[in-house]
Amino acid sequence: MLKLYNTASRKVEEFKPLGKMVKIYTCGPTVYSVAHIGNLTAYIYWDLLVRVLKKDGYAVKRVLNLTDVGHMTSDADTGEDKLEKGAAREGKSVYEVADKYIAEFMKDYHALELVEPDVLARATDYIDEDMEAVDLMIKNGFTYETKDGIYYDTSKFAEYANFARLDLSGLQAGARVEFSDEKRNASDFAVWKFIKPGEKHAMRWDYLGQPGYPGWHLECATIIHKELGEPIDIHTGGVDHIPVHHTNEIAETYAMTGRALSQNWLHCNFITIDGEKISKSLGNTYTLAELSEKGFSPLDYKMWVLSGHFQGTRNFTFESLEAAKTRRLNWRNRIALCYQKDIPSDGKFDEILAAVNNNLNSPEAFAIIDNASLSLDDWQKVDQLFGLKLLDQTPDISPEQYDLIHKREVTRAKKDFAGSDEIRDSLAEQGIAVRDTADGTVWEYLE
Ligand code: AMP
Ligand code: ZN
Repeated sequence: MLKLYNTASRKVEEFKPLGKMVKIYTCGPTVYSVAHIGNLTAYIYWDLLVRVLKKDGYAVKRVLNLTDVGHMTSDADTGEDKLEKGAAREGKSVYEVADKYIAEFMKDYHALELVEPDVLARATDYIDEDMEAVDLMIKNGFTYETKDGIYYDTSKFAEYANFARLDLSGLQAGARVEFSDEKRNASDFAVWKFIKPGEKHAMRWDYLGQPGYPGWHLECATIIHKELGEPIDIHTGGVDHIPVHHTNEIAETYAMTGRALSQNWLHCNFITIDGEKISKSLGNTYTLAELSEKGFSPLDYKMWVLSGHFQGTRNFTFESLEAAKTRRLNWRNRIALCYQKDIPSDGKFDEILAAVNNNLNSPEAFAIIDNASLSLDDWQKVDQLFGLKLLDQTPDISPEQYDLIHKREVTRAKKDFAGSDEIRDSLAEQGIAVRDTADGTVWEYLE
């Protein structure tokens, strides 16, 4: 039985699918720069979610969006437009910037062995649907027009504050000083922005008689409406999405359809680096490529992420990444041993599966793996569950390498230690270590 924490109810609940196909939506990246390791944690945890559901026998349809329409650096529709910012930085068009960083994101996505989404939805492919959505919201009386665009009147949706347990009166009071004269409530937000004459904004579409572009939250509501149909089973994102982005997606969906957006909501927590927030000024915005330069594979990072729970606060350090790498090597070497000896299963795979079914408790599952006796068959199942490429990278060694190991044993038995060391060195050059145990020599991977 799968149990998941649901942000909507603030409780761990038994997962009950709404239909035959489990419908999942994952808020994806804004493609204006290379993702840092903090950005990537969400996709790793939601990959585990999809793998667990599949292992449990569910058919899954998962949609991941790519935000290639610019949106503001602040959730409150102010600040710089992220894609325009990327374009100015690189002397490229916004479209070139989006293409470049979608390619970069997908490179990371594949390096992390993440299950391919069933639909990869680019926001710019859904502009007509965005306009239809705004038409509906206008028709249903949830919006008003300002000089700036079409705004959602959050006072029209009685449940607006419920999802994030927002204190709307506090929000209103706090916002007084910088309150836009045309906005009716502090929590109101743009569903469509107008581009004023002379304003530079490369991405623009004609709608309501003037150029403009969709507000950020709209793409997710629209894509879900078109690709999945609401309500969906599970909506995922980062904890920062709860008070604004997801609250607004819920409001938009209600205004368009009168329906709830999602039955379950999963949010992963933020990671810190060396105890600090990830920020450019602290120089701690590591990318996967930068971890590789320091000798860590993307899968070492995936291992690090899954060593902690998605709801926990995690502190990334290179020592803890080293520990994750060592653990991964240890698992690979245990698999290597399975090729050499018949390692019996102690049946603990069921406990591993139970741990991840208990609100995706990957750290507990990892602790069980550390202490279980797993057969090659068990390891295959572990690898399917976590996507760590443990087996793909550990094919059995070649007959020539087995011959060398045997030759070394004979040389050693003759007490020709110089000769046996020479063979050991030659194996080491091929990435293989030998270990002499009471049961004879076994080989392991060096790195
Ligand atoms: P940003 O590009 O910084 O706006 O981040 C995009 C998304 O990545 C955010 O909305 C978060 O959900 C996620 N994210 C950013 N920083 C972190 C972090 N330190 N840990 C986990 N997730 C993060
Ligand atoms: Zn979203």
